[in-house]
Amino acid sequence: MIDCGEGTQVQMRNMRVRFGRLAHIFISHLHGDHCFGLPGLISTLGMLGRTGELVVHGPKEVETYLRPVMDLFCRGMEFDVRFNTVDTRSHSLVMEDRSLSVWSIPLKHRIPTCGYLFAEKPKEAHIIREMTDFYQVPVRCMKDIKQGQDYVTPEGEVIPNARLTRPAATPKRYAFCSDTAYNRSIIPIIEGVDLLYHEATFAECDLARAKETFHSTARQAAEIARDAQVKRLVIGHYSARYDDLTDLHREAEAVFPGTILGNEGMVIPV
Ligand SMILES: [Zn+2]
Ligand SMILES: [Zn+2]
Repeated sequence: MIDCGEGTQVQMRNMRVRFGRLAHIFISHLHGDHCFGLPGLISTLGMLGRTGELVVHGPKEVETYLRPVMDLFCRGMEFDVRFNTVDTRSHSLVMEDRSLSVWSIPLKHRIPTCGYLFAEKPKEAHIIREMTDFYQVPVRCMKDIKQGQDYVTPEGEVIPNARLTRPAATPKRYAFCSDTAYNRSIIPIIEGVDLLYHEATFAECDLARAKETFHSTARQAAEIARDAQVKRLVIGHYSARYDDLTDLHREAEAVFPGTILGNEGMVIPV
């Protein structure tokens, strides 16, 4: 889960997201719309009988905020909440497991803030079973072949790897850029990602307000997406002043055609 504003639990129930599957929460910064849902969610997880550890990644202020609340309301819980402090000023590794690594993206906001880059690890190639059967490749060689090695038959014939495997799908990357002023220094970090979420709080007519509050306009989000050559862009975090989002969408589309106007409950396959 990335960020946890008020109402997150309600949305999880509406979307039928299983609470038990949640293992890591990534918090971008300590503004209420990004973290007020945490205490309630953690307390609910306790009541649902969770036992496995929950890791909350975020700026150090997250622990400062959450510890006292948890001491008051979450005593006697069966599971541990571990805080992993993220340095919001550097692009560094936050966590990794077998299939995924997560990196921080330094952002420019009124308080320490970072985004997150989710990068799938390269997968092993797929074995073409008919070919390995044909060459009678022993099981003990399969691991090396999956990792790209050729096969040498007992007679000394070299079977090129390309004949034995199909390449794995290219690893996917998703970048989440939370609240931020227009910040071109993130471009090299997010270059070419499959999907970029970028905040677009304001329309171009409120550019001055965007500067003052360290937010971006929809057009600026689209410029970042275009210059980083991302494959798709989804925008969000719109100011409540706009009843109608068509201006924001149009301004982003003019720079990055196909911009997705993100909204509650939207599901975007990557
Ligand atoms: Zn903020
Ligand atoms: Zn915000």
